[in-house]
Amino acid sequence: MFGRRSSFPGGIRLDMPDRVAADAVVRQMPFAPLLRLPLRQHAGPAAEAVVRAGEEVLRGQLLAQATDETAVPLHSPATGRVLRITEQPDGSGGTVNVIELAPLPGDTQEQTGGRAFDPDRHDADELLEAIRETGIVGLGGERGPTHLRLRRARKRAAEVLVINGIEGEPGFSRVPALLARHGADVVTGARFLGKVLGSRQSVLAVEKPDAAAASTMMAELENRNPPALAVLEPRYPQGAAELLLRSLSGRPMEGVSAFAPERAVVFSLATVAEVGRLLKHGLTLTDQLITLTGDGLREPGNYRVPLGTPVGFALAHAGAHPELDRVLAGGPMRGQAMGDLERPVTKGATGFVAFAAGDSAQLPEALACIRCGECVAACPLQLHPAELGLLARRGEIQTMITDWHLERCFECGCCAYVCPSHIPLVQMFRSAKAQWRRSQAVADKEAMA
Ligand code: SF4
Ligand code: SF4
Repeated sequence: MFGRRSSFPGGIRLDMPDRVAADAVVRQMPFAPLLRLPLRQHAGPAAEAVVRAGEEVLRGQLLAQATDETAVPLHSPATGRVLRITEQPDGSGGTVNVIELAPLPGDTQEQTGGRAFDPDRHDADELLEAIRETGIVGLGGERGPTHLRLRRARKRAAEVLVINGIEGEPGFSRVPALLARHGADVVTGARFLGKVLGSRQSVLAVEKPDAAAASTMMAELENRNPPALAVLEPRYPQGAAELLLRSLSGRPMEGVSAFAPERAVVFSLATVAEVGRLLKHGLTLTDQLITLTGDGLREPGNYRVPLGTPVGFALAHAGAHPELDRVLAGGPMRGQAMGDLERPVTKGATGFVAFAAGDSAQLPEALACIRCGECVAACPLQLHPAELGLLARRGEIQTMITDWHLERCFECGCCAYVCPSHIPLVQMFRSAKAQWRRSQAVADKEAMA
C-alpha cells in the first residue's frame, strides 16, 4: 500500500462524510409492479427486442440483442410478462423503444445460472465474448460497453489494470459497500479482466476515507493474489479516469512498477466486481447497485435495484418524504434535476439525491461574474469557465467550442461549486453542448439531403 497526493491541477477538497457501518450495508429493493426497460442503456446503438408483448420471460433471459459490435444485449430483470413495447422519450430530447414488464408476484425470482467461467480454464477471447453477453457496461456512470473498452485496451497493449475505487460524489457510499460485501468478486473480476488484457499488474485505487475498508478486504483475500493497493489524498474529481491516471502514474508503488497513463486502462470498482460475480456464476446483468441519499429520505443507503425500477418507487421504498423539493439523478456535484420520477433506474445509474422541501433546497440567486478567477483555478482540465460562462450568456456557442474547448468539459461541477456569484456554470455548459449537438445533427441531415 502507499499513499500520495493527487498530481493534477485544480479540483477541490470536499467534505466527504466519515464512513459509518451503515455505508457497508446493501439492501435489496423489491420489484415494482411495472419495470420500464429502454433498449439503449449503454453508449452506442439501441438493442433490438427479441420478445413480443404478451410473452412470459425468465429473470436473466435475453430481451433485446445487440445490433452491432458496439452495443450490448439487455436481459430481463424479473420473471414476468412483457406488457408492451413502445417508443418513449429518452430524457435527452430523442426517443427510444422501451419494454414494459410486469414481474410475476408469486415467483421466487431466482436467476438460474448459465455457463460459468473460470479465468484459469477459459482463454481471453472466450472471456471477452462472455463479458459482452452479460450485457455489462461501465457501472461507474460511464455506460460504455465493457467488452469494447477491453478490445480497445488490448489494441493499444494496455497492460496495467487500474480498478477505480474513488467515490464519485460526496454522500455516495458504493465503494465501502463493494469493498465490504463484494471483495471476492472484485478479486475474481480483476483476474477475468487481467486475462482478457494479458496484463500482469493490477492496482486498486481508493481515497483515504475508504483505506481501512480496502485494507481489510486485501487482508481477507491475501491468499487469492489481490491487486496492489494505492491510497490517495481525497480530491474531487479524482475519480475521472484521466485524472486518476495522472495521480497514479509515473512513480513506482508496492507490487506495481511505474507506468505511463497510456499503458493503463481504468475500470470502475463496481464494473470489476460485477464482471467477477456474473462470469463466475454464469449470470447476466439484471440489477444495479445505487446509493439513495438526501435529507428527503428516512432510509438513505445502498440498494441493489432491479433495472427498470421507476426512480419514484425506489425513493418511496427508501422512505421518501411525501413532499420532495427536487431529485437529482447522480450526486450533488454532477447530478441533473429530474422532472419525471417515473423514469427508470438503468445501467448507467450510480445514485439519486432527494431534497426535502424547505430552506435546504433553495438555490442561491446567481449574481454577476466578478472576475475573481476562482473557477479557473478549480478546473482540473485548465479550461476557462468564466469566459465560457460569458460566451454562454451571449449565445456564442460556436466560439465556446472552437476557441475555448467546451467539448472537453466533463461537467464535474468544480467551477460552479467555488463560484462566489453562484453562477450555474455547469447547467449553462450542459445546455450549450446540447444546443451544439442539435445544430450539428441538423447540419448533418442537410448535408445528406
Ligand atoms: S465543469 Fe467543466 S469547466 Fe467547470 S471545472 Fe469541471 S471541467 Fe472545468
Ligand atoms: S468564479 Fe464565478 S465570479 Fe469568479 S470568475 Fe468564475 S464565474 Fe466569475
